[in-house]
Amino acid sequence: MKKINIAIDGHSSCGKSTIAKQIAQHFGYIYIDTGAMYRAVCLFCLNNEILVDGKIDEVMLAEKLDSIHISFSFNNQLNKSETFLNGEIIDDEIRGIWVSENVSNISRVKIVREKLIFIQRTIGVDKGVVMDGRDIGSVVFPNAELKLFITASIKERARRRHADLVGVPFEKVMKNLELRDFDDSTRKENPLIQTEDAILIDNTSLSKEEQFSMILSYCEEAMS
Ligand code: C5P
Repeated sequence: MKKINIAIDGHSSCGKSTIAKQIAQHFGYIYIDTGAMYRAVCLFCLNNEILVDGKIDEVMLAEKLDSIHISFSFNNQLNKSETFLNGEIIDDEIRGIWVSENVSNISRVKIVREKLIFIQRTIGVDKGVVMDGRDIGSVVFPNAELKLFITASIKERARRRHADLVGVPFEKVMKNLELRDFDDSTRKENPLIQTEDAILIDNTSLSKEEQFSMILSYCEEAMS
């Protein structure tokens, strides 16, 4: 079977990373969650007062950008990938509502995207990568052998996200998703789009098993 890159894009909280992980594990591919990279930069900016009350100090961000080091490592004991920001594990913090409410302010900044896209492309040079995000099929790997665009109804996505968060009201989760959908799809730099060659999957009423077997067959076809 041919080694390929698989680009998975789509709306927030539609289960992209769950399916991307399953596929990567199945084929022994590297999995990269690019949302975690934008979230990590966002956390750095919040912690260093580069992003305050929704406003970015772009001069300070440009100065500090080279001191932001993001990496992933697989924890065999916990059987999961962990995200590191300058050596610290940050997975819990970057999934919280504070980062979710601020990340769109970071992901629209051109120099941030340039830095992260450069890293993402470097990882994909030798193929064998499953990457999920918003601009993977359109910008990061425009020649990816398989492109998927995943979505689900906003209510269903909010329901799934809400179940993962402790103590955050459902309406707040829903509002955050609506806002991020809007920001991600309308921003100037690399907005979320479904490219013409991407396969659309609406998983609102699909079980995880149904979705997995459907995507597996697309992968096998692309690898043959
Ligand atoms: O995928 P996740 O919801 O964790 O992504 C968080 C945010 O990071 C998105 O709302 C989007 O603003 C940004 N993002 C992006 N491009 C990507 C991945 C994520 O702009 N490739």
